Amino acid sequence: MNGNGELTTGRGPVAPEGVAEMQRRFFRTGATRDLEFRRRQLRTLRDLLVQREADILEALRLDLGRPAAEAYTSEIGVVLVEIDTALKRLGRWARPKRVRTPWLLFPGSSRIVPEPYGSVLVIGPWNYPLQLVLAPAVAALAAGNCVVIKPSEHAPATSALIARMIAESFGNEVMTVVEGGVGPTRTLLGQDFDYIFFTGGTGIGRIVMTAAAENLTPVTLELGGKNPCIVAADADIGTAAKRIAWGKYFNAGQTCIAPDFILVERAIEQRFLDALKAAITGFYGSDPAASPDYARIVNEHHFDRLAGFLGRGEIVAGGEADRDRRYIAPTVVTGVTWDDPVMADEIFGPILPVLAWDDLDAELAALQRRPKPLALYVFTRDGNLADRVLETVSSGGAAINDIFAQLLNLDLPFGGVGDSGMGAYHGKAGFDTFSHHRAVVRRSTWPDPALKYPPYGNSLALLKRLMPRIL
Ligand code: NAD
Repeated sequence: MNGNGELTTGRGPVAPEGVAEMQRRFFRTGATRDLEFRRRQLRTLRDLLVQREADILEALRLDLGRPAAEAYTSEIGVVLVEIDTALKRLGRWARPKRVRTPWLLFPGSSRIVPEPYGSVLVIGPWNYPLQLVLAPAVAALAAGNCVVIKPSEHAPATSALIARMIAESFGNEVMTVVEGGVGPTRTLLGQDFDYIFFTGGTGIGRIVMTAAAENLTPVTLELGGKNPCIVAADADIGTAAKRIAWGKYFNAGQTCIAPDFILVERAIEQRFLDALKAAITGFYGSDPAASPDYARIVNEHHFDRLAGFLGRGEIVAGGEADRDRRYIAPTVVTGVTWDDPVMADEIFGPILPVLAWDDLDAELAALQRRPKPLALYVFTRDGNLADRVLETVSSGGAAINDIFAQLLNLDLPFGGVGDSGMGAYHGKAGFDTFSHHRAVVRRSTWPDPALKYPPYGNSLALLKRLMPRIL
């Protein structure tokens, strides 16, 4: 930026090499410390999303066959709400927080001051290819950082559109996009970014964290997992089935917080399965392939992986698959066990295994031994039962009697734990993630008692007595 506040490093495609340092040079000018500067970036992004809505919906249709209503709400709408919340609350979030000052430091004052890190790298997955790079970017910009976005190469239309839109409206030093797969991502990870925010699979998360460790770069890892959904006999079966079917088949099951499998109490298994089938038909008709409201599998690789699960167990709904159209019907399977391939890893597609239980404690003990999932769902009218589940099985987030509800409240942090990740964002949690919370004490130069300075002489006994009183 020159003295007139004009951008000097240009717009348009950037090479991944040296991009962190290019942004940090700009960051050092201090321009992003100004809250009005940050608001301007957020408003620019907002305008972009509103103006390019049709292009975004088309790109998401090309990549994932996304129905417009799903694409708008879960991609554009979510980011707009993040922007509006940040615009409304930024002043409060960024204000230094005064805290208690111990007697030892009197007269003086103590504050926690949020400060931006510098240049941050946001790496995204393909399943919500716009939301999962732009929502973190909103938080990073609000916190006063410069942002490099690396969208997923597996959603190529959306990736190219994001690159074009950002290049048209932002200087590269403030926010820029590097497209590509493993090669460019490795080049980015070799640089000493000031923060890395990664959303993707657990295995790649390990690679990202290893690379970050080389430069001691802090990371947030938003990873996946196998999310259990427990349905007890006292649940409202009709509502549970509708909410579960919606959450599972939204984006054809390619959602990190979709219920992965159902554990239903045996006494209601058949009624629950009937209700699930009725919900699927109610949503998508008798031929979901013809429904305008049902998405497609992202690519042949994932289609083949998912189709491979269809040979085991008993298919009680769906089961049809068409490779040319990357279509897999909303499917429910029973008769599988923990030893079946479908139960080994996160399914990440529209196949829902339903397993029946008699003894909840035994099920909870088994879940406790598994990697901690990103989401946990319980359907029951019994508050004590829900509490028992939550106390026994840890997860990134949880919802009782609903699916996705934990994501829809921006006052709740969104993130994983254990194998499902570390760190969180959304609303203020996002601002906090992209801020260093700096401890600052201001002191007066008087008084300056000699007691703390050498030579200590016989002061030890007095210091021992004083410490608990003055700290
Ligand atoms: P992925 O891990 O394969 O890819 C994510 C990103 O990493 C992509 O941008 C990709 O280019 C990059 N990448 C791939 N291989 C790499 C390598 N060897 N080195 C460096 N970078 C590499 O994930 P995906 O398949 O795009 O997404 C699916 C996964 O993401 C699922 O496990 C899902 O649960 C998870 N997910 C989590 C969240 C969340 O919020 N926690 C949200 C969506 C998806």
